[in-house]
Amino acid sequence: MQRRGLLIILSSPSGAGKSTLAKRLMAWDPTLSFSVSATTRNPRPGETDGVEYYFKTKPEFEAMVDAGEMLEHAEVFGNYYGTPKGPVETAMMAGRDTIFDIDWQGGQQIRRSALANDVVSIFILPPSIADLETRLRGRAQDSDEVIANRMAQSRDEISHWAEYDYVIVNRDVDAAEAELKTILMAERSRANRQPGLNEFVRGLNKEFEAR
Ligand code: ADP
Ligand code: 5GP
Repeated sequence: MQRRGLLIILSSPSGAGKSTLAKRLMAWDPTLSFSVSATTRNPRPGETDGVEYYFKTKPEFEAMVDAGEMLEHAEVFGNYYGTPKGPVETAMMAGRDTIFDIDWQGGQQIRRSALANDVVSIFILPPSIADLETRLRGRAQDSDEVIANRMAQSRDEISHWAEYDYVIVNRDVDAAEAELKTILMAERSRANRQPGLNEFVRGLNKEFEAR
């Protein structure tokens, strides 16, 4: 029997390093799947439809919600963001773990859903607010107005840190990546996540009996 895939939720204030850490985790374990969200925000330079996001108009997004196609959805920074359900269910059933880069509202909705037992939630904190702003500016992909809006919202996002299973302070990116891998390895090793164990131990017992 195969174990169900985990739902690995990463949240943080914008610019703390979620996408960077998610990309590193996926390079380390190519079996991980990334949940591509739908959003009504405009693509940033270099973003491709279907890769970072599915870029939708408001009516298209609302139609997906109405059709029950979203696992969760929320308004973030004045735009709609949501997680399409289909790919998540497919990955779970195939035993593949999925990474979600979603805000606290999405994290809360999934944690309160029927999938709660499959969730591992991780909150990423910046080492300081000054560093957070430097990183947002350094990414050089958003206007001053967008950056100011995200900085203003970051306090609210940070206030939800205690709702998460794990918290990583992303000072050094290599150290943060190592912590993330450790969490994933530990969660995969939980007894209730290894459905083959009964049979495996039966095999060990047979070996005892044959001695
Ligand atoms: P988020 O996805 O949380 O909005 P990003 O992963 O896009 O954040 O990171 C924002 C910026 O900060 C990027 O330019 C990224 O390269 C940089 N960054 C991420 N982690 C660190 C770190 N530990 N130290 C310095 N810069 C970092
Ligand atoms: P960005 O515009 O920087 O890509 O993302 C802005 C915020 O929206 C981030 O906090 C990100 O985690 C969040 N986000 C991205 N996709 C989703 C989603 O599908 N659902 C929810 N609830 N938040 C999302």
